[in-house]
Parts: sequence; C-alpha cells; structure tokens
Amino acid sequence: MKKLYLAYPRGFCAGVRRALEIVEAALIKSHDTVHVYHEIVHNDYVVNKLKSRGVVFVNNLEEVPEGGIIIFSAHGVSAAIEKQAKERSLRIIDATCPLVKKIHIRGEALIRKGYIVFIVGHHNHPEIKGTIGQLHGDAFVIENKSDVQKAVKNISPDSKVAYLTQTTLSVSETRDTINEMKKFFPDIEGDSDICYATTNRQEAVKMIAAKCDTVLIIGSSNSSNSNRLREVAENHGTRAFLINDFTEIEPKMLDKAEVIGISAGASAPDCLVHDLCEQLEKRGWPKPELLESKSEHIIFPVPEIRL
Ligand code: SF4
Repeated sequence: MKKLYLAYPRGFCAGVRRALEIVEAALIKSHDTVHVYHEIVHNDYVVNKLKSRGVVFVNNLEEVPEGGIIIFSAHGVSAAIEKQAKERSLRIIDATCPLVKKIHIRGEALIRKGYIVFIVGHHNHPEIKGTIGQLHGDAFVIENKSDVQKAVKNISPDSKVAYLTQTTLSVSETRDTINEMKKFFPDIEGDSDICYATTNRQEAVKMIAAKCDTVLIIGSSNSSNSNRLREVAENHGTRAFLINDFTEIEPKMLDKAEVIGISAGASAPDCLVHDLCEQLEKRGWPKPELLESKSEHIIFPVPEIRL
C-alpha cells in the first residue's frame, strides 16, 4: 500500500532563517544594490528568487563598487575577505551563522594557545575556506578518515593538537575521522561542531529511512547538509535521491516506490516540500504522515541593520 512520510525536523535552520531575514532587511532599508558574497545559502530556488528581486551575488569583492553594500553569507568568510571589504569601504553586513562564528573564535583561541588545529571538513566548501582563513597559525583541513595519515605525517606526536569540524558533516563519518586522529594523538582536544540542525535532520532521516523504500531529499547539489541527508538514507539501506524540486523527479525514482519518505536540507524552503507532496498525491500517494524525531525551537535574533 502506498504511503508518504514527512520527516521533522527538516528544512530551514535558525542560521538560514537569520541570513535570509538579514537580506530582507537590507532590501527594505536600502535603495542601493544589495550584493551578497557567495550564495547566501546553498539553494537554487532561494538564490534565484533573490536575484529576481535585484540582489547581486558575487564571488569576488572587486565586482562590488567602492562603498557598496555587501552581505557575507551564512557560511562565513576569511579574515582576508573582511579586510578587503573594509579597504574598499564597503558597507558590510555579516550574515555568518552564529554557530560558525563560534567556531572561528574557538579556533583562533586554540591557535593563540599554541595548538596545531585540524579542521575536519570539505576543502572547497565556503565554510571551511572561511574558517581556515580566520585562523592565524598552523591549521590543516582533513576531509575524511583516509586523509588523516597524510595530514599528520610531518607533525610530532608530542605536539599540542586540537580539532574543529564543519557544521554540516555526517555525524557518523566525522566520528570515524576523529577516532582515526586519536590513534595518532590520543590527547587531541576538541569537540564536534556539527550543528544541532544537521544532527537533528540526520536523525529524522534515519527514522523515515527505516520505514521507506525510497527517500526524496529536497535540496541543491552544492548543499553539504542536503547531500549528507541523502547519504544517511542510503546508508540505512534505502534508495535516496536529492532533487531541487518536484520537476526533477525522474521515472526511475518512483519506479517500484511504494513507501516514500521526504525531507529537506537546512537551506531548502518548505514550499518546495509541499509542492512535492502535492505532486505525489496527484500520482496516487496519500496525504503525508509526519514523523517527528525531535522538536526544534532554536531562533537566532537578527541584528539591527545599519547602512
Ligand atoms: Fe548555522 Fe547549522 Fe544552519 Fe549552518 S546548518 S546555518 S551552522 S544552524
């Protein structure tokens, strides 16, 4: 019998809501063009909607005119980008998630205390580029467990070492990577920085994956936490697909699907989830049943925007 399950928590986290409210506030307060450094959050729908309202996304601060408005994305930026923005007299609005800021502060404090810092995360992800660029000392990125040996080979086992992690990693893979590091540095200091939203969404997907033969995750291909949700479902033995929205459903995804679970990455808006449910209902699935693994009430206040 066909069934549809909807995971909770899913979709927007507090950091994404805050970043989008900051952009809204800037659009309301200013008649000048609002620029955003990188995608404000990794979601095609969100970014395209903001573009249609005049927001300009840049990957290079040279693209912003002197004195222009620049918003730093939820992923955070390096100290060099902050400096460059100031040198160009840009009007800076920082939408970095407070949980990412906390990692920058902790990392820099470790460096000042003489630690070598390992950052577990993806080299090319803007959050990791921002974090490593905030640390003024010895810091190295480790992508995964198999990276550890290479990363530690020139570091004396007696060194003071610590680790930080990206906020949107797989909880279980990160645990494996940290355990591998502990083989070389049993006293390594650190804590996982995988955030509450990533952890809760992965738990909720595990719960639906156990009941479903197919899991559909709404999210964009460059969204780290959305990709991890698809992997978590797959690791629990379920077919899983990452799609931007219902228009990306391919016949093979629904072939042999009876019990479908739906979730969404932390940067994916809920309207896309509702559209997907509606489309599945048109194809014979019943209204979705909500499976709640945990309640979530975290809110990050939006700072006052001065332009
Ligand atoms: Fe902040 Fe976590 Fe959301 Fe990233 S996923 S913006 S760290 S709350």
